[in-house]
Amino acid sequence: MPQLSFSAQLIAWYKKNARALPWRKTKDPYKIWISEIMLQQTQVETVIPYYEGWIKTFPNTKALAKSPLSKVLKHWAGLGYYRRAHRLNQTAKIILKKHSGKIPDSIEVLRTLPGIGRYTAGALASIAYDKPAAILDGNVIRVLTRLYTIKDDIGSGQTLKRIWDLAEKAVPVKNPGDFNQALMELGAMVCTPENPRCGQCPVQKYCLAYQCDDPSSYPVKLKKEETIAKETAALILRQGNLIY
Ligand code: SF4
Repeated sequence: MPQLSFSAQLIAWYKKNARALPWRKTKDPYKIWISEIMLQQTQVETVIPYYEGWIKTFPNTKALAKSPLSKVLKHWAGLGYYRRAHRLNQTAKIILKKHSGKIPDSIEVLRTLPGIGRYTAGALASIAYDKPAAILDGNVIRVLTRLYTIKDDIGSGQTLKRIWDLAEKAVPVKNPGDFNQALMELGAMVCTPENPRCGQCPVQKYCLAYQCDDPSSYPVKLKKEETIAKETAALILRQGNLIY
């Protein structure tokens, strides 16, 4: 894949078509971190009002670190998966204590923080700090498996490693944050699980699944073998030394 041309086309499409989401108006690492954590397991439309309220109440790492957990949880109420709020508060305290309140820009250091895995570290490093770090979420997995017609089960660690490698190779040095957001936006708005809108896709000419006319066959996710629970009952009758 001619990387420059591919990324340039994708970024140009993104700049013209991206949804105007509040966290896209900033490069503040704190705000990007909050949005990324809220967006895990929660729909964009649900996140928007929570994000805006959160930033008003806890505008930076220090404000979050200094707030009691009860207040943090109160502002999280309704978003679900409360472990995320616990970790935000815990991680803000660590950042304040160990990094003087500044969110680290190194992937390795980011990944030592509670609640920050490979995806969130890549999003922070690329979007907030312009580092050429990859990201991989469900949307990006779908786009990449279609672009490269990856027929292996995405439930396998080996396949995921391969897709991570492709994501790492694809991310450009210039505008890596826009590129990553463009890939996610493409997956969310065009390269959808059902009926992808290939006619509107800015990278259609690079897409092997499109050329083979079967984008909907990707990604491949094999069903896990079902565990069948069986219940049995036994009756033992004893009479003296006799057992029936
Ligand atoms: Fe997805 Fe279709 Fe674009 Fe391929 S051409 S990346 S399947 S939207």
